[in-house]
Amino acid sequence: MSKMIGIDLGTTNSCVAFMENGHATVIPNVEGGRTTPSVVAFTRSGERLVGQSAKRQAVTNAARTFSSVKREMGSDKSYRVDGKDYRPQELSAMILRKLKEDAEKYIGESVTDAVITVPAYFTDAQRQATKDAGTIAGLNVQRIINEPTSAALAYGFDRMDPRKVMVYDLGGGTFDVSILEIGHDMIEVIATAGNNHLGGDDFDQCVVGFLLDAFRKEHGMDLSKDPMAMQRLNEAAEKAKIELSSAKETTINLPFLAQTAKGPLHLETSLTRARFEELTAHLVEATRGPVQQSLQDAGLSPGEIDRVLLVGGSTRIPAVQEAVRKMMGREPSRDINPDECVAMGACLQGGVLTGAVNSLLLIDVTPLSLGIETLGDNFAQIIPRNTPLPCHHSQVFTTAANFQTSVEINVLQGERGTASGNRSLGKFRLDGIHRALRGIPQIEVTFTIDTNGIVQVTARDLGTNRSQDITITGSGNMSREEIQRAMRDAEMYAEQDRLKREAEAHHSSRSSRRDNNPQDDGAMEV
Ligand code: AMP
Repeated sequence: MSKMIGIDLGTTNSCVAFMENGHATVIPNVEGGRTTPSVVAFTRSGERLVGQSAKRQAVTNAARTFSSVKREMGSDKSYRVDGKDYRPQELSAMILRKLKEDAEKYIGESVTDAVITVPAYFTDAQRQATKDAGTIAGLNVQRIINEPTSAALAYGFDRMDPRKVMVYDLGGGTFDVSILEIGHDMIEVIATAGNNHLGGDDFDQCVVGFLLDAFRKEHGMDLSKDPMAMQRLNEAAEKAKIELSSAKETTINLPFLAQTAKGPLHLETSLTRARFEELTAHLVEATRGPVQQSLQDAGLSPGEIDRVLLVGGSTRIPAVQEAVRKMMGREPSRDINPDECVAMGACLQGGVLTGAVNSLLLIDVTPLSLGIETLGDNFAQIIPRNTPLPCHHSQVFTTAANFQTSVEINVLQGERGTASGNRSLGKFRLDGIHRALRGIPQIEVTFTIDTNGIVQVTARDLGTNRSQDITITGSGNMSREEIQRAMRDAEMYAEQDRLKREAEAHHSSRSSRRDNNPQDDGAMEV
């Protein structure tokens, strides 16, 4: 088996790690960053940018730049560029391909196998879409694992006494809290809560607002409609925010931010940590609800949680750490880099699969219950939530009407008692049922879930032995043919991307100044 990589495919940033001399090691990208922005852009000249270069030109090329694609995984959404539609899986595959190629450069050999992480609340369709993205990128996805589980693995919690752990994950665009129960041979996610629209980007926007106000007060001018100025303000805001995680005060200096008849205007101001905390207090406060919700769902009080892990770059913000300390009444663990521990855990899981890591076999669980619709809008649960994977459960059903020769199987996922209250993952029909009075035919419905959480459902008429099955791909997912086509496209672009990178390497060795100037990047595209 070739080297296995662990990938944290994040909403804002992604990270890749591999096992090096028995340790999980983060692989820097070719630009030198330890995480890669999950951003893809198409320039007007037909180039494809992934990562930092795509992020840098985002505001000036907004219509052709795509970020937070992870939010759309498993949905029907498509992104149109130059007459071609891209599915979320295809854009995610472009990010995965860059991570794969950067890993190959770093390790010095080809990489084909990967473990990829997903949020614990991801549905089957979202998990399948993530797996498909890996396939399109040329990776054999050996396992899809839950992000909080992965973080716990990075902390080595699989080798400790049974305990309850809270993972508080505040990234760039999303907030997730999970409570895990770590047993002797498995890690279970027992509760998850969160807010899909809360993260570091919101903190940046508060600082952008502060800077716009400062500029307006000084020069009487509103810059919010000026894309070039906004691009620079966004970057400066994120930089100031990051500086304020270690410094008490920072200065923001943006020369030539606007041009007037009287000459150029500059922005020079300072921001203290205290003011930053005032500007963002509501965001920190907004994490309280999901924390309480997760505790309530798990039936635990803060005192019953043995450890609290901080995950996601935004947990570096001192006020966030303080809030967690207050809410949980204990010091959170921060000994592993919060934006790297998910990828590290994924590569450790890869190590378990290849035998490189001698550890307990990690077992994931079903995040939500699965079952089928029965007469009267009822939900018949076949696999309860939190069942360890892989699993295989069967139940026998019968017909609702006399001489009924076919049944429709509506596969549902969720916790509600009514069929309509849960999410339909797919439907199929079993025909040719033996004609009989209602209640006589015996139809066995079997659910099989593999270690990646991918579901197969079979219905069999025990009288005639006829059966029908489906693999749940979700309405938003791609067919095998579509995946094949996307893989061919990705292969085609791989060569083009390689040539482009070589040209870039050649170019940047001649002119590194251009790489450091955001305005130049904007200008390159238009
Ligand atoms: P992640 O998605 O986990 O990589 O988190 C990315 C978010 O973390 C972005 O919004 C970053 O601006 C933010 N971030 C990274 N480092 C820091 C830091 N030292 N202080 C505050 N925020 C940070």
